Amino acid sequence: MTNPGNRLHERLHALAQNLWWTWHPEVISIFTDLDPQLWRRADHNPIAFLNQIGPEEVEERAAELVLHSRINYAFRRLSEYLGKSETWGSVHCGNLKGRPVVYFSAEFGLHESMPIYSGGLGILAGDHLKSASDLGIPLIGIGLLYHQGYFSQRINKDGWQEEEYVNLDIRQLPLQQVADLNNNPLIVKVETRSGMLQARVWRLQVGRINLLLLDSNVEGNSAEDRELTSRLYGGNNRVRIRQELLLGVGGARILQALNIYPGVLHLNEGHSAFAILEEIRRVMVDDALPFSRSRRRVSLYTVFTTHTPVEAGHDRFSPDLVEEHLGVLRERMGLSHEDFMAQGRVNPGDRSEPFCMTVLALKNSRQANAVSAIHADISRRMWHRLWPERPEVEVPIGHITNGVHVPSWLAPQMHQLFETRLAQDWPTRMVHPDVWEKVAEIDDGELWETHQSLKMRLIRFVRRRLQVQAKRVGNQEIIQQIDHILDPEILTIGSARRFATYKRGDIILSQPDRLAKLIGDTQRPVQIIFAGKAHPHDEDGKRMLQRIFRESGHPAYRFRIVFVEDYDYNVARHLVQGVDVWLNTPRRPLEACGTSGQKVVLNGVLNLSVLDGWWNEAYNGDNGFAVGHGGMHNDPNVQYQRDAEFLYQTLEREVIPLYYERNTSGIPHKWLQRMKAGFQTLGWRFNADRMVKDYVERLYLPAASATSAEML
Ligand SMILES: *Cc1c(COP(=O)(O)O)cnc(C)c1O
Repeated sequence: MTNPGNRLHERLHALAQNLWWTWHPEVISIFTDLDPQLWRRADHNPIAFLNQIGPEEVEERAAELVLHSRINYAFRRLSEYLGKSETWGSVHCGNLKGRPVVYFSAEFGLHESMPIYSGGLGILAGDHLKSASDLGIPLIGIGLLYHQGYFSQRINKDGWQEEEYVNLDIRQLPLQQVADLNNNPLIVKVETRSGMLQARVWRLQVGRINLLLLDSNVEGNSAEDRELTSRLYGGNNRVRIRQELLLGVGGARILQALNIYPGVLHLNEGHSAFAILEEIRRVMVDDALPFSRSRRRVSLYTVFTTHTPVEAGHDRFSPDLVEEHLGVLRERMGLSHEDFMAQGRVNPGDRSEPFCMTVLALKNSRQANAVSAIHADISRRMWHRLWPERPEVEVPIGHITNGVHVPSWLAPQMHQLFETRLAQDWPTRMVHPDVWEKVAEIDDGELWETHQSLKMRLIRFVRRRLQVQAKRVGNQEIIQQIDHILDPEILTIGSARRFATYKRGDIILSQPDRLAKLIGDTQRPVQIIFAGKAHPHDEDGKRMLQRIFRESGHPAYRFRIVFVEDYDYNVARHLVQGVDVWLNTPRRPLEACGTSGQKVVLNGVLNLSVLDGWWNEAYNGDNGFAVGHGGMHNDPNVQYQRDAEFLYQTLEREVIPLYYERNTSGIPHKWLQRMKAGFQTLGWRFNADRMVKDYVERLYLPAASATSAEML
């Protein structure tokens, strides 16, 4: 960090340049205190926010509001954080010094003001970077800068999703253009049969971590290619392979241009797997090795994480597309077309088989991992054909269960409660179970009060959003009744996720009469908050969303089912902090892990979920609720009906009675016991510090020592 000078607005600008602020509520509260409405209007983007106020007014308001010491304190904390030399990583990652982990991902979800993510995969990658920063792991991220992000979601009068694309203003984002070793703007180039693809590179500071983002919007590219990095997952297969070419090959070329030698290549999902090929080519040249030896060497320091058992999640490209885009690289490696295609084929002899990115990654990494135990089982079955000579259990795919970056998702009020009741340094020790034992001593009344205040905050947020939505479509009833929508005393269920069919977001609506009874119950009612996007090309997903949206207007559910538009980081943060129950009903075993349920744990929200993904290894009978017993059925309709039945039963027999069982002061002691069981049994396991430490110890360090051994 360059020294910004002593004036307060300069220090605030310096804070805004590093995404470290996004997980430090004490910085966010400075912005909100300066001007809460403007902060909201600036979409929580501190650079846009500060630019709108202007330096002199920032100084004035800071003086009025006596913010000096808070700004200086935040600034000092950031400087100390960046300057700290003793970290977990400095102790444990000696052999990564000078040869960092290079972490490739097609998306990174870091904050709502940096919309270069679409969903779970991106959020997971963002959380990985943040924990790597906190732990002091030598790691560099590589991704793409999407000028229009994923999309903004609007729901029209008919409940149909419409996508809105707005160009980001790069000047208002904390991006620094990366220079090459001669101090000229770095441009990476990738040759294809149909012309040269070029990209500039931006650096984004995420605490101690550099995230490098490729951007194809440069002079010299065709008009079409300038749009290549506009949208996430937007185009057809040709756009897709070109984006992945840029990410993988272009990404590896950034490293070469900056003289960075990777100690470990970590491919977060198959999108970036072309990086392996470019790295093999580099080693062939640098060390004068033939393809086969270079390939063997690179695979010794390559690790791969697979993220979904859903077939459509594994990119496959036709031989033509592969030849057009990788033909030049193939020739430089001295391979025939068929030998090259073999790297991405399960069955190399099958000329009709497309080139699969997951196969490329699996064949060329030292270790591959799934993201939960059950996902590893499914992945081994799914990819058994690559190792037909082995029994299925010996297919070399292990697992590291995902976790979430707690400081990014935890409500500040909960943070404070833990700080006073557990230990001042709980954040750095959260992976130790003993930290959470003292949770038992937290006063039930205090915990409940904290939770209720977060719930009220969520309800105010939802009402604000619904009002804006209602004004746009002219729904007078909602506008007039806004203060009667949702009630903080009612059991509140949150259900927010991508509307992909396997996630079955509509299952709770499958028996309308039964649901209407639960919702309209005069003694023990229920209310539901929905949110989520469907992929722009996913008609089934959009229809599911439409069904939910329309139902939410039904008189039987009046004001007790709502749909919040434009699910993003911000909506997610409010929801996971403020609901009572987090509902997740994927079709087992298709949810690889699921991370939204992990975000709610330390906020004191109880999971109600199918036993799939992480919940399959987390649920112990009293730290939340299970939908069913982990059954599956070949017929998805049968499985849907069964799970719907289980869901209603669990709500009727367990969730609702427990929530409304109160003592004379209105405190639900048994419910609070479950909340505490959640803290104790889940808090230390399903966080990103634990996850990143697992990656370091089980994947990165062995891979890095292989690199150093090879170099001798
Ligand atoms: C956490 C999160 C997700 C992923 O949640 P799942 O449980 O994996 O479906 C998706 N989108 C947003 C905005 C999130 O915050």
